[in-house]
Amino acid sequence: MKYDVNEKGYYGEFGGAWIPEMMYANIDELRRRYLEIIESPEFKNEFEQLLKNYVGRPSPLYFAGRLSEHYGTRIFLKREDLNHTGSHKLNNTVGQILLAQKLGKTRIIAETGAGQHGVATATVCALKGLKCVVYMGALDVKRQAPNVKKMKMLGAEVVPVHSGNKTLKDATNEAMRDWINNPEDTHYIIGSVVGPHPYPDMVARFQSVISKEMKSQLLEQTGSEFPTRILACVGGGSNAAGAFYHYLDDEQVELIGVEAAGKGVETSETAATLQVGLPGVLHSSKTMLMQNSDGQITEPYSISAGLDYPGIGPLHSYLFKCGRAKYLAATDEEVLKAALLLTQKEGIIPALESAHALAALEKLKLKPDDVNVINLSGSGNKDMETYLDYFGY
Ligand SMILES: *Cc1c(COP(=O)(O)O)cnc(C)c1O
Repeated sequence: MKYDVNEKGYYGEFGGAWIPEMMYANIDELRRRYLEIIESPEFKNEFEQLLKNYVGRPSPLYFAGRLSEHYGTRIFLKREDLNHTGSHKLNNTVGQILLAQKLGKTRIIAETGAGQHGVATATVCALKGLKCVVYMGALDVKRQAPNVKKMKMLGAEVVPVHSGNKTLKDATNEAMRDWINNPEDTHYIIGSVVGPHPYPDMVARFQSVISKEMKSQLLEQTGSEFPTRILACVGGGSNAAGAFYHYLDDEQVELIGVEAAGKGVETSETAATLQVGLPGVLHSSKTMLMQNSDGQITEPYSISAGLDYPGIGPLHSYLFKCGRAKYLAATDEEVLKAALLLTQKEGIIPALESAHALAALEKLKLKPDDVNVINLSGSGNKDMETYLDYFGY
């Protein structure tokens, strides 16, 4: 495939494994074995069974009639919000826990910012009875108390990280340090299409079930596998990668990622990496990054914790650069409006992250016959406090 990662782990100029010498053994084992394992019939069978009976797949493809009428076009929602734990994240953690078992690992580590990936990791560790340690910036531990409690109830140890800004980047550094010290028994579950090769490719493959299902569901409901366009929000980019994956070579399908503009891409309070970023290396991967003129990573901002990340997966940097996918940005204000519109037109409260993809509908010329698929990455349950604060119910 034209947009596949190459043998060295690059998408065009982006990606690779920019790792310290001491992490070489961990990454090398994963790189050598991941494809053979995840393509084996035994793995595929176990993965499919869990996706079906534990995660609750296939997720429905829902024709949103009243929202379609509002925009004068056809809009379908891929309902990842209906998965167990309320988002697409479990597709990846289920895949990685099975992989960890095949590699003979007994201990799992993860980093988390908002806590969503930490919860998804703690969930699959409980499912498989593996020890789970989640690194989290001390500031995030305070800000995301409900998710910390969930992880603890699921049996995970949550380690607050007090270095740096006490947020996601610092938690990631600590998780990498742990992995270097425990290469034998530990697998590191990364939560998006980021980090050193082979993570971006591996996570994209686990999430690709989204577009695989879309194809057959669209064929059944519209008579064609091919929509006019697919829209997905982009933080690290895993739900978008999954929604785009099986359409990458079908160039007639327009692919649109939507980043978090925060207070606006012209302000310093934004997380729209592709709009304001430059190439650099973050989390052992060459990709587009938000940075100052000295190359220091700048602190991102978004109303949605899941998009509040200063980088983006190397696949998206590449799709952006070569023009295969388009990337827009939606502000906090636009996102809140879009979330309310979906709620009152369809009775579905979306995650703030997913509402970025919905907000982009306002920015496009939509024709009556177009088929628009929105990847609804998660449920708004976790965001009720933000919604209530803003709308004042
Ligand atoms: C974590 C999260 C995201 C952002 O992650 P990606 O890797 O960009 O998909 C988006 N939506 C929801 C609901 C999330 O929990």
